[in-house]
Amino acid sequence: MSSTRIGIVIPCFNEEETLDQTAETVGEQLRDLIDAEEIEVGSFVCFVDDGSRDGTWKKIEEWTSKGTLYRGVKLSRNVGHQRALLAGLMSMRDEAEALVSMDADLQDPAHTIPLFVNAYLDGNEVVYGVREDRSSDSGFKRGTAEFFYRLMRKLGVDIVPNHADCRLLGPRALDALSLFDEANLFLRGIVPLIGYPSTRIYYKRDARLAGETKYPLRKMLAFAWDGVTSFSTKPLGFIMWLGFFVCLASFAVGGWVAYTWVEGQAIPGWTSMLLPLLFIGGVQLLCTGVIGQYLGKIYQEVKHRPRYFIEKRI
Ligand code: UDP
Ligand code: MG
Repeated sequence: MSSTRIGIVIPCFNEEETLDQTAETVGEQLRDLIDAEEIEVGSFVCFVDDGSRDGTWKKIEEWTSKGTLYRGVKLSRNVGHQRALLAGLMSMRDEAEALVSMDADLQDPAHTIPLFVNAYLDGNEVVYGVREDRSSDSGFKRGTAEFFYRLMRKLGVDIVPNHADCRLLGPRALDALSLFDEANLFLRGIVPLIGYPSTRIYYKRDARLAGETKYPLRKMLAFAWDGVTSFSTKPLGFIMWLGFFVCLASFAVGGWVAYTWVEGQAIPGWTSMLLPLLFIGGVQLLCTGVIGQYLGKIYQEVKHRPRYFIEKRI
């Protein structure tokens, strides 16, 4: 008998069309693993209803009445994918040893569950699911996603390319995650900060089971911007450098303006207007940049992120 209890956490927002098939498929995978004695009998799927306005919760209730394999958590209102997922992970963290998160539309296919479990049993604390093949996505989504991952890397944020929120977290990773209390959640940026032995599994991203995406372009852009501003202070540094160069340029132009004045080629009033204008513009931008640097520090401090996690002591 295995003593590893696994929980699958699935945030759902208006997913009544996909829920039955998802519950069926994921449940089947779990039952197979339980039968093969790879995981404990008490392993389960937990659906988190993120304030759905359709029959999602009713469906979840139906499934939970079928036995202990299914569980449900209902949030008081819609809080968004990231927070709904965190709510599921944190409320199930004492109920299982390791938790796998997946989307309700099975775009990250359920047959990966045994791969996650095996990678965990091999000693990995974090297992990242990576979409190797995004041919089921539109060209636009693929392009913007690629640009986003590249931008994040440039900004010095350590994220796993093409990894969304399909991953396994072991008990130590879940403990670590609970210590991040930032309000602007961007889980795929936080998880790599946790460390511990980790691995990746690769799969083909399927098309959505049914229904439509809950991430229209507007939400996608807001999410990407959240990712940038929650993890990088480089844009602030950029303002400072910009200020510095504008200052330099204004001194150079200032020199030339002064020269034309000395030479007597300047129209009266031109020099006295242009010089302060250039100078003040540059100095202002530079000062904004310097303030930005302090702001960046304050921002790092108020996050109260944990500074380290100990893996072993001997
Ligand atoms: N989701 C959620 N709350 C929201 C939006 C989405 O819980 O406010 C869930 C949704 O039900 C799904 C997952 O987040 O399980 C990913 O959403 P979706 O598949 O629509 O995003 P996409 O795959 O198109 O990026
Ligand atoms: Mg999806």
